[in-house]
Amino acid sequence: MRKVLTDRLYYRDPALLEFDATILSSVVRDGRYVTTLDRSAFYPTSGGQLFDTGSLNGVRIVDVVDAEGSVHHISETSVGKPGDQVAGKVDQPRRHMHRQQHTAQHILSQSFIKLFGFETVSVHLGDDYGSIELDQSSITTAQLDQAERFAADVISCAWPVTILFVKGSEIESIPLRKIPTRDGELRVIKIGEFDYSACGGTHCGNTSEVGLIKITGWEKLRGHVLVNFLAGVQAVDDYKRRFEATDALTKSLTCGVSDLVAKVDKLATEGRSLRKSLAALQKELLPTRVANYAGVAIVVSGRKLVVSAVDDMDGSSASQLGSAVAEEISGVALLVADGKLLIAVGQTTGLHAGEIAKSLSAILGLRGGGSNKAAQLGGADPAKLQEYQAALLSILGHA
Ligand SMILES: [Zn+2]
Repeated sequence: MRKVLTDRLYYRDPALLEFDATILSSVVRDGRYVTTLDRSAFYPTSGGQLFDTGSLNGVRIVDVVDAEGSVHHISETSVGKPGDQVAGKVDQPRRHMHRQQHTAQHILSQSFIKLFGFETVSVHLGDDYGSIELDQSSITTAQLDQAERFAADVISCAWPVTILFVKGSEIESIPLRKIPTRDGELRVIKIGEFDYSACGGTHCGNTSEVGLIKITGWEKLRGHVLVNFLAGVQAVDDYKRRFEATDALTKSLTCGVSDLVAKVDKLATEGRSLRKSLAALQKELLPTRVANYAGVAIVVSGRKLVVSAVDDMDGSSASQLGSAVAEEISGVALLVADGKLLIAVGQTTGLHAGEIAKSLSAILGLRGGGSNKAAQLGGADPAKLQEYQAALLSILGHA
């Protein structure tokens, strides 16, 4: 393929969303169309920033790749043939999100340097959140808070974000955040006098356009600190989700936002303690309940069966009850509790609970299994007790 170079319009004007161009090449690769143009406003995935989406002559561009010195526009159908004119349109919301996120990343990276001398060694800008890898093995919450506040101040200053093209000795006169390894002309993103970075990305026109930077946490990666953040519309969308969640909780728990954590902690502690008391009570009541269930056993051809729904026990307690009842009656207990069909057989019955479960599973379409004395199937419905009983009787040969 002839080497074709694209004039990258986004280099000079990241706000440009519509453009005209001429198709230089069009090939099919792996069942998808790859189109190159003499000029393009589409940003290809590179430098940690994701590609733009949009259309060329109305054909959806689903991926944009930087290859062979050109911008490769990927589509499912053909855009046209070499020489054809195309009208290009870049999706505004996605471009806007990328501009906010990438400018936020530059601001955050420089904030960590200014405050603590922490260098950014890698960057990831995703659809859901962005992250920067700092050359540190740990970081404190206070440092994260400070960086977030610092970045917010930079945003509110509305410093202009400008694009410089520099080469040769000019490069040395610029205080670049990181010295690039490649030669030739450099594209530099300048944020006021705050940050100079060699970068090919699409950025905001000034720092206020970023809107908001929220650090959402950090994790360890390769012995380094990975700081996750949200910017602009991502942060606003996240705020909306969080607001809705806390708003619903404050209404249902009738408390203020500041009391939520304490309130939920208290409820969780109470819940644990109640579950403990309940388990103890159920254990105490077990002999009585076993006797009650044993009392309603039916006898079919000399075999005792208890078939019942249990609506006040969790699966594990009901399973214990089933086993005790099966022993008590020296028969079979089939209980429905907690969405489970529980099968237990008494030791002297000569029956195998796992085998019964297997046969029930084939008839009822429920999944599960078990051992020789106890088994269970999931997805059980207490309203279908009659159906379960009929299936059990047919298995035991008494249908
Ligand atoms: Zn950048």
